[in-house]
Amino acid sequence: MKRFFLITTLFCCVSIAEAQKISISLHNELNLQTLLITPVSGRYLIVTEDGNFSLSPNQIIYVSRAGDSVMVRDMASHYGTWKRVSIVGQTDKDVIRINSITPSAPARIYDDNLGFYVDFNRLMAINIVDVDKYISGVVDAESGPNADIEFYKAQALLARTYALGHMDKHTDEGFNLCDQVHCQVYKGKSVRNPDILKATQATTDEVIVDANGDLITGAFHANCGGQTANSDDVWITSYPYLVSVVDPYCKNKPSSSWEVRIPIEKWREFLIEKGVAAETMSPDSFVFASKKRATHYEVGGAKIPTSDIRTYFNLRSSFFSADIVSNSVRIKGKGYGHGVGLCQDGAMQMAKKGISYPEIIKHYFKGVSVTHHTKVNGYDDDANIIDFDQ
Ligand SMILES: [Zn+2]
Ligand SMILES: [Zn+2]
Repeated sequence: MKRFFLITTLFCCVSIAEAQKISISLHNELNLQTLLITPVSGRYLIVTEDGNFSLSPNQIIYVSRAGDSVMVRDMASHYGTWKRVSIVGQTDKDVIRINSITPSAPARIYDDNLGFYVDFNRLMAINIVDVDKYISGVVDAESGPNADIEFYKAQALLARTYALGHMDKHTDEGFNLCDQVHCQVYKGKSVRNPDILKATQATTDEVIVDANGDLITGAFHANCGGQTANSDDVWITSYPYLVSVVDPYCKNKPSSSWEVRIPIEKWREFLIEKGVAAETMSPDSFVFASKKRATHYEVGGAKIPTSDIRTYFNLRSSFFSADIVSNSVRIKGKGYGHGVGLCQDGAMQMAKKGISYPEIIKHYFKGVSVTHHTKVNGYDDDANIIDFDQ
């Protein structure tokens, strides 16, 4: 059973609007020790087991690890040290800045509430945030700022579908998702284009399901080069909806074509490493034309997955042709990324042409539909609750 977790009993004694919230571990890759926290807008309370403290607008407080506890102070006074501390917004427009001092990291701003505790010898900083605000932050981190709103809607559905399918990914650690690539990259509040939040809220609760009503794996990439890839050509798993489609929408973009040259000797070494017999190789045999996305590069009777070549030579994509130019193998490639699922450049162009987000999604994912999250297979009304008690 997978569904949104409801953070229903959060922060006793503090009145907050009951809304679906999700808990995200911030700077999950860092060994956080000391943070500088500043309310940006709205109204905040510091909530502890000994009572609450008001925060003034723009007041600066320090939240640090002190052994296995959390210490809160400002320039003038020491508030105290507790096992758990929350900073809870009192309006629905609460925004707060986190600036990690130790270790040093760029300041970021977040919607809604924060919770702190010590685990793994570090300060854990959890953003307890409205689901749609979180989704808009993910879309902001994953897309450019200048797209049309239907593109952002499509991207919001991918982010929500992922979040919904992975709400239990970190429950053992006390939160739902982390803010890294491991889950979905989240760098805080969406600020680059107001259409991103609008798109997320306009599609609230909508997710993408396959023909069986299960949440899909909503893969996406920057540019497919004119044809997307089958998932099983890139990964091991095959999905009926992650199949190669011709994409006429992503041409003439900066990442739609590229070229690199690899010394013939290096190319030969790679092929020998892959088990191709040296005597079957000649520069002529390296020539490879692929008008369509090829799953394998053929040389000397051997077949090597193009995705292996991409990984080994760190190519932008696995969609390429090869010829020989002055002692080098010239690789002329198309697209950027693994090529599976939605092509962002193509989806942006579709949105620009006025195509709606369900059509954009159905162009890249075969046999899927857009539905309300309560219609997903296995939906259960019993919410899994992550409490953030003091
Ligand atoms: Zn994660
Ligand atoms: Zn494309």
